[in-house]
Amino acid sequence: MKQLFLPTDLAQKIRQFCEDSYPREACGILIGQGGQVTKVIPSPNLSATPEKAFEIDPALIIHHQKECRKGPLKIIGHYHSHPNGQAAPSIHDHAQNYDASLIWVIVSVTKMGAQSMNAFATDVSHDRLVPIRSIF
Ligand SMILES: [Zn+2]
Repeated sequence: MKQLFLPTDLAQKIRQFCEDSYPREACGILIGQGGQVTKVIPSPNLSATPEKAFEIDPALIIHHQKECRKGPLKIIGHYHSHPNGQAAPSIHDHAQNYDASLIWVIVSVTKMGAQSMNAFATDVSHDRLVPIRSIF
């Protein structure tokens, strides 16, 4: 069973990035080790329809994968926001979940600011993103 440990200051950073991108979806990568996030890297959202989808910059992913070769840290997941939506995976999210090892953090945002934030991981036997225990 996967768990996510996200320090309060990093959780706050994610909320801030999501608010700054509103009404577009924010996205970025989570770097850490064994479910413990140590760094949050925001990405430009390269989707052609950023109000309802996200695409993390592949160059950013490659850059950090290379960086992580040196040490114990690696890309353990990513985050994105759902402007005026639920903090839960959309049909589109399930469809573009290509890497079952990654943790997904999804934040709901309204014009009032960031609302709830939840973490998900892939249940491989059902090919679904399911909620995981998370400590923010
Ligand atoms: Zn989504």
